[in-house]
Amino acid sequence: MAELEVRVVSERREGLLVELGRVVTEYGHVLVRQRLVQEAHGACLTLVLRGPDDRQLALEEALGTHPRVLSFESTRPQFAVEEVATATASVASVLPSVPARPAQVAQPPAEPVPVAAGADVARVERMLPSLAKDYPRIFPWLINLEYAVADEARDASLYLAGRRTGAWVYKRDFSLGAKLGLSEALRRIAMPAMRTLVTVEHHDHQLHVRGCPLCQPGGASGGRFFCGFIEGLLVESVESKAIFVRETSCHSSGAPMCVFDISH
Ligand SMILES: [Zn+2]
Repeated sequence: MAELEVRVVSERREGLLVELGRVVTEYGHVLVRQRLVQEAHGACLTLVLRGPDDRQLALEEALGTHPRVLSFESTRPQFAVEEVATATASVASVLPSVPARPAQVAQPPAEPVPVAAGADVARVERMLPSLAKDYPRIFPWLINLEYAVADEARDASLYLAGRRTGAWVYKRDFSLGAKLGLSEALRRIAMPAMRTLVTVEHHDHQLHVRGCPLCQPGGASGGRFFCGFIEGLLVESVESKAIFVRETSCHSSGAPMCVFDISH
């Protein structure tokens, strides 16, 4: 197993990570870290990959010739991180140079680890000020997040974004002090908060969402965002301080609506 750092430039950032991620997986590699930045000459994506030595060359070939890739360079970080940064910078001669730096270590999550497990925490944290600023018009940001994170981090990142947004909305609009029962919390907190985002109905311990913009038929479900959002909204308001939300059916897989089941 060896590490490989590649840097590609593409015309557009949309879907880039997902498409190249597929190639990476195909060649038996895993994504260790990534960084995607928009620059004047295109979207610049840096990937640190790990996989079997004997497939590295083939992977480099596949990435370098991928139709989305305008320019490609790679380094093998077998030295100390500082030396790699220097080596990478010296290779970047054709394009306006981007200071190559050691891939960022994700910020430790503010909440207990399970909430953020598997999520691209740093990216979600960076997006939160934009979500707050544009709230409730947040769906473009969330769809962008879906594209920007690695496939395997998608659900967890949506969930984390939901938790953080839900907690923020609760603090802003609903922190009343008194603890509520679950049904009451759903009626008085979850429903009004959800209604600003989507068309929603309340049935017992379920919320039914129609036409969720994150769950388009035939696409992947974005329901994990709402699982996190409802949990973040309610966790501080109910007596038990534990809330679990599951999406039990989803518009993306053909159901007429997305159904979220809330329990504690
Ligand atoms: Zn759904």
